[in-house]
Amino acid sequence: MIYADCAATLPVSPPVYEEVCRVMKECWGNPSSIYSAGRQAKNIIEDARERCAALIGAYPDEVFFTSGGSESNNHAIKTTFLSAKSSENTSPRIIISATSHHSALNAAGAVKEQGAEVTQLYPDKDGLLPLSFPTADDTVLLSAELINNETGVIQDVKSLSDRAHGCGAVFHADCVAALGHIKIDCHAMGLDIASFSGHKVGAPKGIGILYCKRGLKRHSFIHGGGQERGIRAGTENTAYIAGLAAALEENARSLEEREKNLLSQKECLIRTLGGCFPDMRVNGSTQRSTGGILNISFEGISGDELVLMLDREEICISSGSACAAGALTPSHVLRAMGVKQAGNAVRLSFYSPLGEDERDRLCSCIIRSVQKIRETGGINLS
Ligand SMILES: *Cc1c(COP(=O)(O)O)cnc(C)c1O
Repeated sequence: MIYADCAATLPVSPPVYEEVCRVMKECWGNPSSIYSAGRQAKNIIEDARERCAALIGAYPDEVFFTSGGSESNNHAIKTTFLSAKSSENTSPRIIISATSHHSALNAAGAVKEQGAEVTQLYPDKDGLLPLSFPTADDTVLLSAELINNETGVIQDVKSLSDRAHGCGAVFHADCVAALGHIKIDCHAMGLDIASFSGHKVGAPKGIGILYCKRGLKRHSFIHGGGQERGIRAGTENTAYIAGLAAALEENARSLEEREKNLLSQKECLIRTLGGCFPDMRVNGSTQRSTGGILNISFEGISGDELVLMLDREEICISSGSACAAGALTPSHVLRAMGVKQAGNAVRLSFYSPLGEDERDRLCSCIIRSVQKIRETGGINLS
């Protein structure tokens, strides 16, 4: 099997799996218990917090463990709205990137129903968000993704953050798709709140981080026993937290080398496939993007159809983000960029580069499938 859908999820990496199992077996105490089995679990968590913080350019007390990217995005948007609303601003304004992940867009939709003014920020045709746009004094939050999970486009978050701070708003960055591909420094990038998820970098699903800058007013998201310094109650998932720290460390060791090779792999894929199909379109900037994600479309070819054809060859690619797939609605990201036939797009995504043989097989299978669909009119999707 060739797995080219790493932006959807990754298998748990073997050393991470070992660490998770070890902690589950040996350190199962409740981290809130004051006897030694509890303190042992607590130590694991605080050690992981320090290691994670160091890898994302944060202080340990700015790192809160959550269940993943969706929860962190919901937390960022909903609690910022609640804090603002309770301080006399009756309809706080939220500006959100139109190409955000659904967990952020739908959280913004939920606070809109509670009175927020929500404005979507549209990218240019290359997927890049504008750096100058109207803001109003009642803006409380600007939210955007650092790397888009469908196109791989890298946003200029430092400038977006400056823009947000210029009107007194908080800046939130969804860093989930960026983790593992570019070096993230929450402090240097001017982030106030940021979201991270473990399962896109080899940790288990259901574990992630909410970064919240020191001094920022924090609202509780899950009320209960006061874990995670009161903002996210619930007995901590000690084993997955340890696994997350291990995954981030493993990832950081290989990051530069991997990304360099992914960028040349991306060039090679574009050259090979584009050479065969002059009508192939690359969606999203190739200048400002990660090598890990390639979004392409072929004139007249349904993305879903191509995904299913390749599945027969044991090749996994995607026709959009996994969370929206199945619905057969064309990507909101590509539509926001003004891509006309968004339903024609497929996404190839990688954590580390394929071997040369695999890359060749991937290309020849795509070429054969596209030709076959064009010759036969394709397979019946219904
Ligand atoms: C995967 C993803 C999420 C959701 O993270 P989960 O941990 O699966 O909830 C959010 N944002 C982006 C950009 C993603 O790629």
